[in-house]
Amino acid sequence: MAIYCMQCGKELPDGAKFCLKCGNPVGSAVKPTPQPEQKWEYCEIVCKVGGFSGLKSYFMAQATGSHGVYIAARSTKTFYGIDDTGGDYPDTQAWGGEKKAKEALDEMISLLSADGWALTGDKGSWWQYKYRRRERS
Ligand SMILES: [Zn+2]
Repeated sequence: MAIYCMQCGKELPDGAKFCLKCGNPVGSAVKPTPQPEQKWEYCEIVCKVGGFSGLKSYFMAQATGSHGVYIAARSTKTFYGIDDTGGDYPDTQAWGGEKKAKEALDEMISLLSADGWALTGDKGSWWQYKYRRRERS
């Protein structure tokens, strides 16, 4: 870790007791080396109701970061969904609905992890996994 003189700002060798330039005692003249800012982008799996009567609903993950907002992944598998003001959701009451929705969710999870996304551990409903990954410059 680099040490700097509090008085004049000169960089000092490790273990120096006085500044080599102005003679100021070093004491607490330790300045943390600035770390490059770690930038993350985030995404969350959401349900999008699509098709006639929601028969072709799908999962989508919209990413947000300093590069803007974009679609990180979208399931090609579809399932039955219900349009709701509180947010769309998979219809697991429909016959075979739960199985179809879970297959589409598995697809999303593989797509996202193959793309370097890591789970944050935070989660909403059972399909609402949240991810983050380091931004690529
Ligand atoms: Zn100095």
